[in-house]
Amino acid sequence: MIDIRTFMLVLGIGNIGFALLMAGYARSQASHPAMRLWAWARLVQGCAHLAVWLRPELPSASLAVAANIALIVGAALEVAAYCVFLGLRGWGPALVSFTLLGLGAMVGVRAAHLAPAQLMVVMSSVLCMFSMAMAWLLLRPGARGSVLQQMIGWNNVLFAIAMGARAWYSAGAPHAHLFSAGAMQSATFLTGYFLMIVNGFGFLLLCKEKDDARMVQLATIDSLTGLINRHAFFDRTDSARALASRQRSPIALMMIDIDHFKRINDCFGHATGDEALVLFSATAGSTLREDDLLGRLGGEEFALVLPATDLEGAILAAERLRVTVAAAVLPTSGGDYSMTISVGVVVIDPNEHINAALARADHALYAAKTGGRNRVSVGQAQLRVVAR
Ligand code: GH3
Ligand code: MG
Ligand code: MG
Repeated sequence: MIDIRTFMLVLGIGNIGFALLMAGYARSQASHPAMRLWAWARLVQGCAHLAVWLRPELPSASLAVAANIALIVGAALEVAAYCVFLGLRGWGPALVSFTLLGLGAMVGVRAAHLAPAQLMVVMSSVLCMFSMAMAWLLLRPGARGSVLQQMIGWNNVLFAIAMGARAWYSAGAPHAHLFSAGAMQSATFLTGYFLMIVNGFGFLLLCKEKDDARMVQLATIDSLTGLINRHAFFDRTDSARALASRQRSPIALMMIDIDHFKRINDCFGHATGDEALVLFSATAGSTLREDDLLGRLGGEEFALVLPATDLEGAILAAERLRVTVAAAVLPTSGGDYSMTISVGVVVIDPNEHINAALARADHALYAAKTGGRNRVSVGQAQLRVVAR
């Protein structure tokens, strides 16, 4: 059997330790806003555990009430942290009502001078409900969380079961009190300790997982068009080229440049120029297959990789793209505007460096520009215009 009082001291120190660590991490620029709420939750719960540990030394009724209030507020802050972390909206009133209900029940038990066992029934039930709420938030069908998120969710299920069992046990044991020893008490407090460790580290890792994903997104995605940027395009094209080489399948590459783009900026303003870039990206994206890679290399220059596509297929795809873009309408202050593109197409040779293939495609693009724009050129030893 474990000594519950000492255990409260351990829980208190553990929670406050987590709170300090998380408060430190929450100060870093990259940290998720939910981290601050979580740090507060741990701090409040840690203080509650320390208050419970002190109770036999300072046998005051208000200390006991304060400890229970802190436990409920700490659990509510945890739920709030999950809601913020998951980007949910409109949860405030429901959480506040739920918390007030829990606090009201607990104060009611005190006011009615009910036995400690009955207070244990109420507190265990309230904590069970909070744990179930957290488990639902993390595991609900729409959450589509990571493995880590699911592990934390199931940990909350485990704690809810332990608290439910404790409420049921206390209801049938009128002489039970917070510090009474026994297998049920030991099991529930050990589960609580497990929850503190898994949830404490888990939430930190969960935030880190999300923060890292945001950093990768910022580093690889062009914020205007939502396409992958130059760096990511090179990375992914290299992987696609290596795969095509292993599978002995052809892989095509296009360089695409919007014609007379400067005129759009000059005539209608930079904002309309931006809209033209977004329109091009969306229009081009709609003509692509799942495995095709479209990236913004910079300005109004784009590159497209078509796996499992030979030269003939690539020319057809480029023509389709050229026609689709020309048909798209850009609303401007001067009326509807149709932009055109010039395209250079090559098939990447097995083992050819991506830079070399891009240089060949760029040559072909240059030929399309000098040939009059709004056309597709093929990069070969001998460049030739194939379509207009
Ligand atoms: P060409 O047909 O020969 O390609 O002519 P062009 O006018 O399209 O090409 P040029 O290279 O002369 O001009 C490209 C312009 O694109 C210059 C630059 O100010 C503009 N630009 C680059 N990036 C952005 C952007 O993110 N937004 C907007 N609105 N304009 C951009
Ligand atoms: Mg251009
Ligand atoms: Mg250009």
